[in-house]
Amino acid sequence: MQQFNPYEMAVQQFERAADRLGLSEDMREILRKPKRELIVNFPLRLDSGRIKTLTGYRVQHNVTRGPAKGGIRYGPDVTLDEVKALAMWMTWKCAVVGIPYGGAKGGVICDPRNMTAGELERMTRRFTTEISIIIGPHSDIPAPDINTNSQVMAWMMDTYSMHEGFSVPAVVTGKPLSIGGSEGRNDATATGVLFATRRAARRIGMPLRGARVSIQGFGNAGSVAARLFHNEGCKIVAFSDTSGGLYNEDGLDPALVQRHKLEHGTVATYPHGQSISSTDVLEVPCDILIPAATEGQITEHNADKVQARIVAEAANGPTTPEADAILFDKGCLVIPDILANAGGVTVSYFEWVQDLQSLFWDDVDIIHRLEVIMNKAFDAVANKSEEYHCDLRLGANMLAISRVSEATLVRGIYP
Ligand code: GLU
Repeated sequence: MQQFNPYEMAVQQFERAADRLGLSEDMREILRKPKRELIVNFPLRLDSGRIKTLTGYRVQHNVTRGPAKGGIRYGPDVTLDEVKALAMWMTWKCAVVGIPYGGAKGGVICDPRNMTAGELERMTRRFTTEISIIIGPHSDIPAPDINTNSQVMAWMMDTYSMHEGFSVPAVVTGKPLSIGGSEGRNDATATGVLFATRRAARRIGMPLRGARVSIQGFGNAGSVAARLFHNEGCKIVAFSDTSGGLYNEDGLDPALVQRHKLEHGTVATYPHGQSISSTDVLEVPCDILIPAATEGQITEHNADKVQARIVAEAANGPTTPEADAILFDKGCLVIPDILANAGGVTVSYFEWVQDLQSLFWDDVDIIHRLEVIMNKAFDAVANKSEEYHCDLRLGANMLAISRVSEATLVRGIYP
């Protein structure tokens, strides 16, 4: 079987939207390739005294609508093509919700689960230094992603600030509150998923109360989504993490599953459910499926087994184009990643704005502003899809790509 390549998938999605928009080949060439790709190899002193050389990336896909924005992920499977795809999706994501950013992404190939806190800190500080030639509060603003969190952002902010000689909180988002983080940022991705799902459910006349929800992934997006959908009256019937999954048709209490994960390191061994694999979670009977793990999970091989009426993509790139077509034909409503999970970067934008003006908003204000933006974006995408009789992904991509291409045209080509 051919190896799954996220960048090829991102380009395929782009071409599909570009075709429907009738975008010129000249414009496609501008938008298809990342603007900058930085590869860094750097040494890390391990606790054992050994020195290991690591590889990291920071890719800026597009900066036409504003500074580059996007997370940093750590993991053994990080590749340049993955980071390029994620950077491109960030460009469209920021455009679809109408926030003034371009798209970027970063990553380090490492095994964070087998690293000590000291090693993680030294790696983060050295990686930040290596990419500091292109990041900055007005050029490129990192944020958390898979295996990074507010502590990692604090180290990044501190490292960058040490080089400048003064505090630069706006250089990263997703920071702790004590150093210029924002209310609501931690729950933002999942909150946005909930707002988008609410809107989608209303459109197809499905009440959220009592709806069965299956969630793949128990990181920041998945675990918080479990709590929020549970509070909304949904029944969380399945969970998973990298070690495996769990199913219980009567519903599971996310708080208890979370506690089990803290104590035992995984949700898979929680005793009150049937043990399943982390891909089985995609196929269990449910009304709403939330892929909240990684790319390429719903493919041509399992899409026809998806039973949900709504797929809300908390992860980036979980559904391949072949699977999209199968789900669309089945009448399953897929809320695409660049819309469904845009709550994260939207509250990152709020955090950056607050840092730049050194004036902070309360949580009620943040949630309200987020809801306004998510609803507006959802309606714009849904209208586009109705107009073109297509799925929401194509509608979202068309909307985003037309905004970026319009900005490119109006700015003109330099020189
Ligand atoms: N990593 C998140 C994403 O994929 C958030 C990015 C950000 O806040 O800049 O959307």
